[in-house]
Amino acid sequence: VHLTVAELAPGVRRVTQPLPIGIGHVHCYLLRGASGAWLLVDTGISFPDVADRWRELLATLDAPVERIFVTHFHPDHVGGADVLRDVAGAQVVQGRLDYDQCVRAWSHREGWMGSVDELAGLGVPDDVAEEILQQHDALSDLVRFARDPEHADPGDDLDGWQVLHLPGHADGHLCLLRDGVLVAGDVILAKITPHVGVYPGAQPNPLARYLASLHRLGELAPRLVVAGHREPLDDVAGRAAELVEHHRHRLDEAEQVLDEPRTPYDASLLLFPDDLIATLRRMALAESLAHLEHLVAEGRAARLQADGRTLYVRA
Ligand SMILES: [Zn+2]
Repeated sequence: VHLTVAELAPGVRRVTQPLPIGIGHVHCYLLRGASGAWLLVDTGISFPDVADRWRELLATLDAPVERIFVTHFHPDHVGGADVLRDVAGAQVVQGRLDYDQCVRAWSHREGWMGSVDELAGLGVPDDVAEEILQQHDALSDLVRFARDPEHADPGDDLDGWQVLHLPGHADGHLCLLRDGVLVAGDVILAKITPHVGVYPGAQPNPLARYLASLHRLGELAPRLVVAGHREPLDDVAGRAAELVEHHRHRLDEAEQVLDEPRTPYDASLLLFPDDLIATLRRMALAESLAHLEHLVAEGRAARLQADGRTLYVRA
């Protein structure tokens, strides 16, 4: 694996790790703190040789990395945390709620994806559920989150960077803000719609909280947003408005497929008709559920139980 470094602004360096699947890369950030030390944000995935690459990179810095901050527990953000703690000799900092969900997601096979029975309740055929769990196991092998991190809370000051809670993509998603520069994790991305999904053990109606986070981003009006994927954003209000519009449109589409009672899985096949690998099908199911649950909250759909399965229908 090869790490690529780019200086985006004074004291804001981007470190890009290529990924074999999905978006194809993830960005970590080296931020200069008020003390002159570096703060590393997010950690990529633990490929076998990643420790050596990071050791080489950190050796070129003019000051130590004092802390490693994790925005959220998703594999491409938390997966290298334990490796980097060793390499940098630095403390890992993670949100309390996010750490709880991290342990649940990566310590129990079914903690994040759901068990075969739970998935059956959402309409997922058993063979698809087995494949989802197998692919999650394979990914788990590349995730080395750091046990017992230092906890961060909203409002904390991390060497001059302010901790913000912007939930929705993950319940406990944290960002950092300093002098109009927002390090956004996956809350807002150029060209990609951040995933918002309903998962076991997570808080209800994440889409409502995500839309509120987009609104707050518009109010914060950072002049530069650097994120976990793709290029930086300078028009954050404009991008937030596009994402609000995207979800408004997807909510309408979700309402339309509820012309008869459907399981979330069946709704997801209509809303995401492409042939997807199991992991992506699981995300499509979670994203569809987020839209269905938001429709219920808005009084536009009803949730029913029949034969041990959950169904949604237009109100
Ligand atoms: Zn993420």
